[in-house]
Amino acid sequence: MGEKRLDHDAVIVGAGFGGMGAGMELRRQGLEDLAILEREDDLGGTWHVNHYPGLAVDIASVTYSYSFEPNPHWSRLFAPGAELKKYAEHIADKYDLRRHMEFGVAVVRAEWDDDGRFWTVHTDDGRSRTARYLVTATGFLSQPHIPDFPGIGDFTGEILHTTAWDDDYDATGKRVAVIGTGATAVQLIPELARKAKALTVFQRTPIWVVPKIDFAIPDGVQTLFEKVPLTQKAARLVNTSLLEALMVFGVLHFKQAKPGNKLAALLSKAHLRAQVRDRKTRRELTPSYDFGCKRPTFSNTYFRVFNQPNVTLQTSPVERFTPGGIISEDGTETEIDTLVLATGFNLWDTNFPAFQIIGRDGRDLGKWWREGRFQAYEGVAVPKMPNLLSLNSPYSYSGLSYFTTIEGQMKHIARLFTELRRRGAHTFEVTEDANTRYLDRSTKALDSSVFYAGDCATSRSYYFNQHGEATLLRPSSTLATLHEMDSFPLDDYSYA
Ligand code: NAP
Repeated sequence: MGEKRLDHDAVIVGAGFGGMGAGMELRRQGLEDLAILEREDDLGGTWHVNHYPGLAVDIASVTYSYSFEPNPHWSRLFAPGAELKKYAEHIADKYDLRRHMEFGVAVVRAEWDDDGRFWTVHTDDGRSRTARYLVTATGFLSQPHIPDFPGIGDFTGEILHTTAWDDDYDATGKRVAVIGTGATAVQLIPELARKAKALTVFQRTPIWVVPKIDFAIPDGVQTLFEKVPLTQKAARLVNTSLLEALMVFGVLHFKQAKPGNKLAALLSKAHLRAQVRDRKTRRELTPSYDFGCKRPTFSNTYFRVFNQPNVTLQTSPVERFTPGGIISEDGTETEIDTLVLATGFNLWDTNFPAFQIIGRDGRDLGKWWREGRFQAYEGVAVPKMPNLLSLNSPYSYSGLSYFTTIEGQMKHIARLFTELRRRGAHTFEVTEDANTRYLDRSTKALDSSVFYAGDCATSRSYYFNQHGEATLLRPSSTLATLHEMDSFPLDDYSYA
């Protein structure tokens, strides 16, 4: 390969399910020398980082897993987080990926060398290494968002962000505030409400919550899944089809299928009415934007905590912190021992990409996206970024389960590397023209989505970037995505 001896065939950044998927596929394509660099101290990505109480997958586990590696032993329809972490470990062992992994290594910068046609990847330990290919698998929700509330530095109690949970923390008898009401908070709040002396939930924007049909998977069913894998495949097909319908009709084709979307909102409202007694609280918990503008979630336990005498819903915004608590804009003072930040992640300022990437002609990927428009061909490739597969890109997220995105990208890698081999080439770069066509097509398709055809004004959704464009989701069905990843025109890339 080339004249210069490179350190690796490929560097993959991130040892979560995306990075492992890419690792498996590149190995299948004959690349043996991989370095999978992970800033955390173990593999599993989000399922390693997140271990707050109540954590569970909120896409049924038959779907939230690799289709080619079903796990017959999920204990529940929606498996607890620890089982996902175990599943990640199983994948790393079975596919012999651990030997490529290095932990506690954060990539800070990568730059393309156009003469030698390789990437130089710099890490926070001051080292650098070269590789023919660079794959970023740094996740969508990996850079915690920690708001800079006035006076927070003076607060003398404990502060926990949900991504840095202290497993020894016990809320028993404590006065706790949770800021945020996203999918994470919805899982965590019922756990805290069981123990805290007083729990105040600071809500800025309510979330749509629909019932979660969850149950323990009986041993007999687990045995059936193990002995007759086709049965689990069938369960996956049924569940994936339901999610697909929700996504395609509820979100992407909002304009044509408004009643489906409205039905989901009605279901959530009925759920709220059945669970919360107080009318004012119900009103405050009801979103004023269309279902699907921001990611809805599933829970049977969230709404009902607001009936508990120890739980208060605070909708007046945080004005400032004092050493002992929070003053809200309406003047209410809430004294607390613990502050829980369920404030989510920063996607568009610090995560796309997660580190500086300098391509051909000095193109700085992050700057290019932020100063222009967020774009990536098929959600994986960018012009002037040769030999870069950027797995967490604008328009890359397909369907509701992240595994659809990952498996589509694995198909893309397979097709691209098969073509490289056929041509005896080592470098690929998507053409400007193909990229523009994909961007135009995605932009146009999104016209019918809830993001533009619906009312999302008050949603504060992370699906929208700082330019007000909804550039996270790929506007096609998962079936269409998988098909396209398998059949994109090969001359959408140039090869050398
Ligand atoms: P999130 O959805 O971004 O929610 C963050 C929350 O913090 C929002 O309610 C937000 O309010 C609030 N917030 C942020 N800054 C604030 C500020 N300065 N003042 C007041 N409130 C503030 O983050 P998340 O709940 O961690 O969930 C992120 C995503 O992770 C989910 O959408 C989902 O895709 C995924 N997730 C999945 C699972 C699962 O499958 N098990 C579980 C949890 C999360 P605004 O809405 O007003 O900004």
